[in-house]
Amino acid sequence: MDGQYLPISEAKVSVLDWGFLHSDATYDTVHVWNGHFFRLNLHLDRFFRGVERLRMKLPFARSEIELILKNCVALSGHKSAYVEMICTRGTSPTFSRDPRQAENRFIAFAVPFGSVATKEQLERGLHIAISDTVRIPPESIDPSIKNYHWLDLVKGLFDAYEYGAETALIVDINGNVAEGPGFNVFLAKNKQLKTPAHSVLPGITRQTVFDLCAEVGLSAIAADVSRDELKDADEVFITSTAGGIMPVTRIDNTSIANGQVGRVTRQLMDLYWKKHADPAWSTPVLYP
Ligand code: PLP
Repeated sequence: MDGQYLPISEAKVSVLDWGFLHSDATYDTVHVWNGHFFRLNLHLDRFFRGVERLRMKLPFARSEIELILKNCVALSGHKSAYVEMICTRGTSPTFSRDPRQAENRFIAFAVPFGSVATKEQLERGLHIAISDTVRIPPESIDPSIKNYHWLDLVKGLFDAYEYGAETALIVDINGNVAEGPGFNVFLAKNKQLKTPAHSVLPGITRQTVFDLCAEVGLSAIAADVSRDELKDADEVFITSTAGGIMPVTRIDNTSIANGQVGRVTRQLMDLYWKKHADPAWSTPVLYP
């Protein structure tokens, strides 16, 4: 950050940064697995789109940002990492309230790979509760700009914990299922896959599921998903850069089908991790 590489414990932002004060920021998270970034170009595309839509200016070109991300991982030494790139509104040197006067700031960091689901949860499937909390509507904040407006998702998580579940899904303004804290959701019914179309971040892992389905001849669509439809599915899984494709076997107090991780989910999970070794979808980190 601010032109230097630092140990993560020394990387600190100003309390005056509007990224901190107003969540006026966009970011992206890509993971590194076995020394390779996964689908880095798609993450950079989404990040640059968000920066442009928020009318921010990055102090680096795309090729420079790619190099900074690689350097962060190489210097950290992590072979499997969670890598975040952030652009904040920054601060105004004159304390102006006009966002056009702010000097935008770029920050990147690499920390060890983390997952939404533990190893045990990946094996037996997650238990999710659907909270009544409504995701910030797209009319207020464009969800395709990856953002830190998470108070609705955090409220959903507390609702889920109170219910005795392990994580949460929240709903869109019409009461259909939207997304969870850092993940999208899919259902499979009669070998047809479906994921919510509205009020969601278009996740790169979600896109990867569409790509994998096309490869193996499964049909996948984005459309409204009601709570009942989700609970009545043959299989449910969530998707995130933080964990990949993760099975769900219980929603509220309903078991999904027979309560076991399903065949389509397993097939897609296997393929997803295999694809991490495909040069078309991965970029090597050059460690010193
Ligand atoms: N939805 C939200 C709100 C997220 O923050 C994330 C990722 O952090 C996702 C969905 C999943 O997106 P991706 O697959 O690109 O990690």
